[in-house]
Amino acid sequence: MSEPMHCYRHPRRETRVSCATCGRPICTECMRQTEVGIKCPEDARLPRGARAGAMKPNQILKTLLAGVGIAAVGTFVVAYVLFALPFTLLISAAAGYGAGTLINRAGGRNGGPIAILVSVVATAVPFFVVLGPGVLEGVVNPIRLVAMVIAMIAAGVANRQL
Ligand SMILES: [Zn+2]
Ligand SMILES: [Zn+2]
Repeated sequence: MSEPMHCYRHPRRETRVSCATCGRPICTECMRQTEVGIKCPEDARLPRGARAGAMKPNQILKTLLAGVGIAAVGTFVVAYVLFALPFTLLISAAAGYGAGTLINRAGGRNGGPIAILVSVVATAVPFFVVLGPGVLEGVVNPIRLVAMVIAMIAAGVANRQL
């Protein structure tokens, strides 16, 4: 049995509960139930962005796996679908956003730097694979490069913190 502690906001109140983030004791009135345990009001109130990147290892793994999957599937999409259709830029934005959203969900919707990085890279890889040879020969259609940049931005935007 642990020693009774005193709420850091109400020093006279005894409690056995402490914040999952900062460890300070909090009374029942002050504690906030969150998806990751009981927290003090300050830590419970932190914006989502403040805990971004605090993905669990399995969420990071899923994010990376989703990224690899997106990159693989995306290569076919870019090679055989994207550039074959009209409105390439619009479709690029939608495809990039979709890819970013999938990766965001794979990571437990935490978003943050890892999800953004994986999304942007996973979206860029198919374009590099498809456009790379043309770029090296200097014969690539500029619209296709613009499409790549748009898709990368859209993938990053899909992981923004709301
Ligand atoms: Zn706290
Ligand atoms: Zn209190």
